[in-house]
Amino acid sequence: MFSFVKSMMWFIKKNWYFYVAIILVGISISLANLLPATIVSSLTDAIENNGITKGFILKNILLYYLLIMFLIYLVSTTKRVLQNRLKVRLYYALQVRYMENILVQDASFFEHFQAGDLLTRALGDVKSVNFSGSTRLLNIFSEFITIVVTFVAMLFISIPLTLFSVIPLPIIFFVNFYLKKKVKRNWREVREEASKMGNVVLESITNVRTIRAFSKEEENYQKNLKYSDQVYKIERRNLKLNVVFQPIFNSITAIATIIAYALGSYYILEKGMPLEKFVQFSIYLTMFASPLTNIGNLLNNFYQSLISADRINEVYDAKSSVLDSADAKPVNHIDTVEFRNFSFKYENDNFYVLKNINLTIKKGETLGIVGRTGSGKSTLVRQLVRQLPICKGELFVNGKFIEDFNQESVRSMISYVPQEHILFSRSVYQNVALGKADATSDEEIRHAIELADFAKDIDALPYGLDTIVGEYGVTLSGGQKQRLAIARAFLKNSDILILDDSLSAVDGTTEANIIKSLKEYRKNKTNIIVAHRLSAVMAADHIIVLDDGIIVEEGTHEELMKAKGWYYHQYLSQQMEDGE
Ligand code: ATP
Ligand code: MG
Repeated sequence: MFSFVKSMMWFIKKNWYFYVAIILVGISISLANLLPATIVSSLTDAIENNGITKGFILKNILLYYLLIMFLIYLVSTTKRVLQNRLKVRLYYALQVRYMENILVQDASFFEHFQAGDLLTRALGDVKSVNFSGSTRLLNIFSEFITIVVTFVAMLFISIPLTLFSVIPLPIIFFVNFYLKKKVKRNWREVREEASKMGNVVLESITNVRTIRAFSKEEENYQKNLKYSDQVYKIERRNLKLNVVFQPIFNSITAIATIIAYALGSYYILEKGMPLEKFVQFSIYLTMFASPLTNIGNLLNNFYQSLISADRINEVYDAKSSVLDSADAKPVNHIDTVEFRNFSFKYENDNFYVLKNINLTIKKGETLGIVGRTGSGKSTLVRQLVRQLPICKGELFVNGKFIEDFNQESVRSMISYVPQEHILFSRSVYQNVALGKADATSDEEIRHAIELADFAKDIDALPYGLDTIVGEYGVTLSGGQKQRLAIARAFLKNSDILILDDSLSAVDGTTEANIIKSLKEYRKNKTNIIVAHRLSAVMAADHIIVLDDGIIVEEGTHEELMKAKGWYYHQYLSQQMEDGE
């Protein structure tokens, strides 16, 4: 419990007044709850002594009782309101913290944690921690206060009666201690299976078209079923534990009550204990026992959230492999970029994907990168946006190590259109506007769309620029998606533009239009074009051919044609294809 509280300190410190207020209100509820028993006690006394009159009932019972009830209602409501506020606040804080953590992660993080798993943690585990960090923690505390307060109240009535009655109660703690391990182990299994299921479900949803196209529905269904089954089985085991142990708690409290009654009768008959005192005592005993049972349940859920907290911390602890050094400075323009003896290997590969790359990209230059699929083109350009750690060799920006600059500022100088296009479920307009952080005018957006040769498609969309695209909207064609992504990059208009295979789904004329825009609009800026179709890089100032991570040929189009290597043969075969 202490480690959990410690791990929540970042939030508790900021909202301590909530916790203090709820604890104070909790104490007053426990105290106020002692009052109704005194009425019952005085009523018993009056019955015994034939003192019941109309006035007595009106004043001592009704009025007093109503007042007490009103008081209890008031403090309980205050507590509930405060607790709910705290819960919502914590939920928001946890979600923001979780998201912030995920957003700064690099590619290797997402290889380790799959999307479905992250989503499961974000929903289930965050919720469990949220419950425990707000309501449960405080409830355990206020149940504890109730136990102490009623225990003291009972002691005031009769010390021996109290001590004898509570003898069996410590058993509850032993049972709980035994349960703790089981509950935690079970809950870890539940959450792990839930994560696996999350992955499978997400995969099925995102790939539903492929699944249908290959008639894999049944197979996929069975796979989903297998995980649901697994989750169901473990959850059931969890419930069984609860079902088996809950009666134990109840029996123990029942035993305590039996002892109290037996001893109580003895005390009344033999020791002259007043009946009303005993009535009051037995009410307190019930009040004393019920939090013990509740605490059993609360702790059960609390132990589960300890596991959930661990699972969230796993995400927090997974530090990005690309981290800014403490003295990293911002860069405010990028002139030259140089790879020197640069080699790169992915963490889980045992071979180098880039080998001894030496390449300088000057300001205002257009660089073409071509080569067979899997030759390392994307890996090379991803280095510039710092998606991957530096492995071997150096990468310079403006003649300084790229690591000397903070990543955020380097990225802000680069418009990168990745090979997989990302569309958000928003309007076309908003999707393009994402390219620029600060406010943009309609004018700028239209211009960017123009440059990406996307304007001709807008009229065909049902609501023009306001058409919602993406998962919940109109599905754009591959070529339209590419041009929307290019428009976004044009809007950003940074020192460096990278198009990673972004012209693969557009026809020749469109490609030519976009290349023309690049030349005119980005005259003194750097462009990097990765392509399979050589027509996209023909006009570049410099072209490199990658093969198996090595630059095997480089030069201008003319030089490469003369060299009669891979480029030349590729060019001829593409020309033939186009001619056919
Ligand atoms: P394409 O033309 O198909 O886009 P590419 O030239 O861009 O190919 P890369 O994506 O850079 O090729 O991949 C180069 C090599 O690195 C491939 O062998 C690929 O399997 C490997 N690779 C790519 N991404 C990863 C990764 N995340 N982990 C391990 N290996 C990877
Ligand atoms: Mg690629």
